[in-house]
Amino acid sequence: MNKDFSFSGISSVALHTTPKDYDTYAHLTPIYATSTFIFNSAQEGMQRFEGDNKEKIYSRWGNPTFKAAEDTIAALEAFGLKDNDGNNLQLKALLHASGQAAMTTLFLSNLKAGDAVLSHYSLYGGTYELMYKVLTQMGVQIIIADLRDLNLVEKTIKENKNIQLIHIETPANPTIQCIDIEAVTLIAKQHQKIVSVDNTFASPYLQQPFKFGVDYVLHSTTKFLNGHGTAIGGVLVGKNIEQMKTKVWKWHSLLGGNANAFDAFLLSNGLKTLELRMERHCNNAMQVAKFLQQHNTVAHVNYNGLKEHPDFLVSEKQMKHPGAVMSFELKGGLNAGKNFIDNLKMCTRAVSLGTIDTLVSHPASMTHFSVPKEEKIKYGITDGLIRISVGIENVEDILQDLAQAMEHL
Ligand SMILES: *Cc1c(COP(=O)(O)O)cnc(C)c1O
Repeated sequence: MNKDFSFSGISSVALHTTPKDYDTYAHLTPIYATSTFIFNSAQEGMQRFEGDNKEKIYSRWGNPTFKAAEDTIAALEAFGLKDNDGNNLQLKALLHASGQAAMTTLFLSNLKAGDAVLSHYSLYGGTYELMYKVLTQMGVQIIIADLRDLNLVEKTIKENKNIQLIHIETPANPTIQCIDIEAVTLIAKQHQKIVSVDNTFASPYLQQPFKFGVDYVLHSTTKFLNGHGTAIGGVLVGKNIEQMKTKVWKWHSLLGGNANAFDAFLLSNGLKTLELRMERHCNNAMQVAKFLQQHNTVAHVNYNGLKEHPDFLVSEKQMKHPGAVMSFELKGGLNAGKNFIDNLKMCTRAVSLGTIDTLVSHPASMTHFSVPKEEKIKYGITDGLIRISVGIENVEDILQDLAQAMEHL
């Protein structure tokens, strides 16, 4: 595509950000399954080492197949946004082996002993454990507050001068709580704090945190970005390009959490249909939520697209659609939860989320089986709670499967 062509939507961005490779005539960026790259001369080697892009030196440092996915994700997160000077926002993305690896780079490149991170109590389990088991050992303090309470956010920042980074995850598991990115970022920036957002549940099609002035966005690309459940992966996107190319890239390459070319290729392929998939995912999810809400075996539905959800307005303000992940409480408790899962005939029994097929899990007997009861209650994980990541099947079939599974609880 020509440099002066301006895209009107994210499907075009996803399909045409990566330049066609006129050296190989390959329509798609090939899988560069190579650990190292050739220099024709010492001079050329020097230029590549000094250059901005390190994708043709050594694959722990970068690789053309990673770069195709990185450039596309950066373009999706930046689509339609302007920087402070009114120019199109430029972002830089670094692909990682997993969402956890991306989070590790984020934390370690921005925090040192004596600093603190402020975050919310409803967090992805891996993030929570990374904070409490790894960061605390390195002398980083973890401060948890309800980030939906803006007065508390302000008070906590004022009282804890060592807070450097505010990490927001929205929407978040399992009750799909949403945090007002704009409001929290406004407070954080008054106190010169760094803000990062885990945008995994939303994807850039539904939510663009850089619109509100955040510094970093990260994703587990394992979920909606890949979309097909074919690979684990993560990405860290930043708006301070210089810092992304120096300090953040340095930590990323030293920690060794690089992606691999095959998984990067699968991710690039998945990204092309992001808009189409998200539209269908969200449309199906709304119908599933309404079905669950009126069903007599269901005590409660947690879906940010329902007016009854406590964060409905925040979600409506910052998201294009409310997403495709929800949870619901069966009246019959643990046994009803287990029976429901066992009765499913079409939907997939699995953890994870964001794949094209509907995934259903029962936290009490699966992910949170070994967590003490008081801890579970704190995070909203009750015995009859079912989590569902609504897929792109024909919605009648999802509804049919859920309805029949609820017949004998
Ligand atoms: C899955 C997930 C992660 C961790 O990503 P991995 O790819 O499994 O390492 C982080 N945050 C959220 C919100 C997730 O859903």
